Order: sequence, then structure tokens, then C-alpha cells
Amino acid sequence: MNYEAPRKAMVEEQLLRRGIKNERLLRAFSKVERHRFVSRDLMSNAYLDFPLSIGEGQTISQPYIVALMTEYLELTGNEKVLEIGTGSGYQTAILAELAKEVCSIERLSGLAAKAENLLKEMGYTNIKIKVGDGASGWPQQAPFDRIIITAAALQVPFALREQLKETGKIIAPLGEAFNQVLTLIEKKEGRFESTDICGCVFVPLISKSPEE
Ligand code: SAH
Repeated sequence: MNYEAPRKAMVEEQLLRRGIKNERLLRAFSKVERHRFVSRDLMSNAYLDFPLSIGEGQTISQPYIVALMTEYLELTGNEKVLEIGTGSGYQTAILAELAKEVCSIERLSGLAAKAENLLKEMGYTNIKIKVGDGASGWPQQAPFDRIIITAAALQVPFALREQLKETGKIIAPLGEAFNQVLTLIEKKEGRFESTDICGCVFVPLISKSPEE
């Protein structure tokens, strides 16, 4: 099957038409082969307007949500980004197209290994993946210009706030199972300003740390 046409349609109908305007972002979505991040039987659905299963009870987010979250990070190409919840690695690839360096943490070793192999095969050299609890962040790689959390928590874990640079941004779904709000958090003069964006549904962030 030829995936060029459905990918182009995804960019035009799901992203452009809904107001995603950033040129670099649109180019990244036109380039990254989303079908390679799902199992063979789901490939023909990879460019449709919904999330898909990636096994182990987890999902690859709907393309529009990946785009919306990425747009709020306002990446210029110079940033070091921390991603919590590698999953399929699709969002990781989009970030790697737009930022300088991406560090991504996944708690399930099977998913992490699969994503790591695929991203290497695709030629990315600016991605580091580790298996672990993303709620503790990645102190050895901190600080980060941007943090993206692709699983829902009640609040942004303290360690992640600590590992964010001054003037940095965090995008995260916050709230309970079926009542989450995509939230942008900006660090300004040591304080955190939070803006609600829209309702959303993500799988839960599973963490041992007491605040989640
Ligand atoms: N960005 C992914 C979406 C993955 S769904 C994609 O594009 O495919 C969210 C992922 O977060 C799941 O893979 C889940 O295993 C992972 N996750 C949940 N809790 C976590 C935690 N505490 N630390 C790291 N990863 C976590």
C-alpha cells in the first residue's frame, strides 16, 4: 500500500483544517511515516483521525493531539526535550524532527525496545530512550527546555518541575481517568503559570511516587 496519499490527507484534513499552522510542524507530520509505529494489521488505519492500540494496553495518540501538544512546545530546533511515555515512539520522532535532542522515558521495557529499534532504523541520532518511571525525570540529562507528558497524572510530578529550565514549558494531560485537561505550564521567574487548553483522554501515568 502507498501511504503518501493518506499521510498528505491527514496533514490537510486533520491538522491544517483544524488550525495547526506552523510550517516546520506540518513538514514533520508530512515526513514521519506513522504507519511504521503500529502493528501490520493496523497500518491501513494509521493516518485516520483516532488513537490506535500499540499493545500492552497502551495507545498511540490521535495525530491531531500529537500536533496540538507539539505546537504548544514552540520548538525552534535548539531545544532539549524530555518526553514521558515513549509508547510507539511516534511523538518522539516528531519531536526529534523539531528539536535538538529528545530524551524519552517509558516504563514498559517491551515498548521502549521496539520504539528504540525503529527510531534507530529510521536514522534518528538525537534520541535517547530509557526504561523507568518518568515521574522521577532524568536527572543526569536535566535541565530541559521542554517537557511533554503523554500519560495523564493528577499533577505534574515535582521532579519534572525541578528539571525544567527557567522560561521552559511543560505540556501534559492533567486529571482523572475520564476528566482530563490538556494543560500548558510555563516556568517564569521560578513560578509556574498554568493554562487550560482542552479536554482530552490519555492512558494513566503509572508511578510509585506518592503525589500521583
Ligand atoms: N507518545 C506515545 C503515547 C504513548 S501512551 C505515542 O506516540 O505512541 C503513554 C505511554 O506512557 C504508555 O506507553 C505507558 O506505558 C507510558 N507510561 C505510563 N506511565 C509511565 C511512567 N510513570 N513513566 C514512563 N512511561 C509511562
